[in-house]
Amino acid sequence: MTSASRQSVKVIRKDPKSWTVAPNFTDYEALQREFSWDAMRRELQGLPEGGGINIAHEAVDRHASGDLRDRAALRWFGAEGEVLEFTYADMKRESDRFANILQRLGAGKGSVVCTLADRIPDLYFTALGTWKNTSVFCPLFSHFGPEPIHQRMSKGDAAILLTTTSAYKRKVAGIMDRLPMLRWVLLTDAAEDLDAKTLSLPRLKEEAPEAFQIPPTDPEDVATLHFTSGSTGAPKGMIHVHDAVVAHYATGKYVLDLRPGDVFWCTADPGWVTGVSYGIIAPLLHGSINIVDQGEFDAERWCGLLESQKVNVWYTSPTAVRRLMRLGERPRLYFDFRTLRCVHSVGEPLHAEEVLWSVDALGLPIHDNWWQTETGAIMIANFPAMDIRVGSMGRPAPGVEAAIVRRVEGGGVEVIEEPDAPGEIALRAGWPSMARGCIHEEERYKKDFAGGWRLTGDAARRDADGYFWFIGRLDDVIKSAGRMVGPFEVEGALMEHPAVFEAGVIGKPDPLLGESVKAFIALKPGVEASEELRSEILGFARKRLGPSMAPREIEFQTDLPKNRAGKIMRRLLKARELGLPEGDVSTLEPPVQGKRGAP
Ligand code: AMP
Repeated sequence: MTSASRQSVKVIRKDPKSWTVAPNFTDYEALQREFSWDAMRRELQGLPEGGGINIAHEAVDRHASGDLRDRAALRWFGAEGEVLEFTYADMKRESDRFANILQRLGAGKGSVVCTLADRIPDLYFTALGTWKNTSVFCPLFSHFGPEPIHQRMSKGDAAILLTTTSAYKRKVAGIMDRLPMLRWVLLTDAAEDLDAKTLSLPRLKEEAPEAFQIPPTDPEDVATLHFTSGSTGAPKGMIHVHDAVVAHYATGKYVLDLRPGDVFWCTADPGWVTGVSYGIIAPLLHGSINIVDQGEFDAERWCGLLESQKVNVWYTSPTAVRRLMRLGERPRLYFDFRTLRCVHSVGEPLHAEEVLWSVDALGLPIHDNWWQTETGAIMIANFPAMDIRVGSMGRPAPGVEAAIVRRVEGGGVEVIEEPDAPGEIALRAGWPSMARGCIHEEERYKKDFAGGWRLTGDAARRDADGYFWFIGRLDDVIKSAGRMVGPFEVEGALMEHPAVFEAGVIGKPDPLLGESVKAFIALKPGVEASEELRSEILGFARKRLGPSMAPREIEFQTDLPKNRAGKIMRRLLKARELGLPEGDVSTLEPPVQGKRGAP
């Protein structure tokens, strides 16, 4: 960190007197000292008679046979205004039924069950029922078209697909002949079977017994196959096991600060890892009420849900926060967020601008946390009890050892002890939710390990007190005039300009500097691009960042290319700039047409 930016670090202090409920921990150092994964595992129940550990048993069955049996587990808001509520007993019955259907269809341990559906209740029962049957849950993002669907299902050896009739007809029917290993398609909304292989889920449900006995489940049995969001390369299929539930439980407790009866809302779609680890598993593990909204982002609807559902803990993304900011209003003037205890965000850098906005506009700060599909659970976080160093990702989660390292010749790594020195984030291998493999790409998996560390491909700095500061994906980091320039820092500074809505920054080959910094900027609604504005922003950035880090060039764009998970695809900006092949763009979000500025 430059000395200038170090001095300008803002700190949001937490005042214990203002807590309506004390967080699940208040002393970070004591927690780190006393924490053990085994102790966490003991807080879970395990299957009877030493039968191992199964995610669905811990998330649902354990509660369905206890005090929470008749308490709400899932409260679902349909896109058309319907509301459905399922208790823990209902969740058990529905997931048992789905597990029985799988058995009847001959799917067993290790059979891969894909879902291609938006946030409908059946998706949640399918995930839980699949885990119960020790089959493998593999969610596909519902907005994918035929090619990304085909790519993932064939790479994942999918045996069963659950989808809707319309998605099947539009996206799957045409690729069926290229999916020879797919045995069954289950249609959530078909009254009758379509053909011998394409079956009606309602019919199967009617015929399925209600009770299911979870078979012994080894902690290392594969539970979930998650494809990465592909912001830096072709998506990888990461293999996760049932023992991951221990990390979901620990982070649900200490990072999200969940407890029984809490109303929790994770806005991530279960097509991505966050929507599964924290949109399904963690809240149920803690006996919370899990809010699911089928609708897409709509500022009024979202703020209305936070208010009417009296949400206590909200887990969202910087993209959603920026969409709220774009409205230019302070939502708390119109909505009552007093039940909200904590707001968390993940998936992309959360800039200081956004954290400070939330204090003013929502009435409480957003807690950034960092993790990856490969890590399965939150690894670095701002904790509810801890002061927030605005713009920092926080400190390692309990049980997680994180370091800043440098790769050295011969495949090893060197830990960088010096505070604030840039390097790669590495995690000491072995936490329960660490991916155990990369499907059919063992080499791609192995190359991320060295000397007992898992290398993450993300560049960051750690300050003298152990707070991590994101720099960028290593692939995105710019080497300009011998300096390492993090796109995140440059983008953050650009976004402080009142006209800038979003920025994506890349390095361009430069004969003198090695690379020069170029920024792509989307302006706020109603702001016109002009030469004057370009010079003004260039000057603004030079003042904030100094000439060596400031962009030399700015290009205005209506929308920046993002993947389906909302991450800016810098590699695509770069490829387009340099006229290089665009590579795998299967996760690219189609541009928003004619409604820039609308969320
Ligand atoms: P995914 O492929 O969706 O698992 O993406 C994981 C990547 O998202 C990480 O390696 C980071 O580059 C980025 N990411 C996730 N959370 C954060 C965060 N809080 N700040 C900055 N980048 C993040």
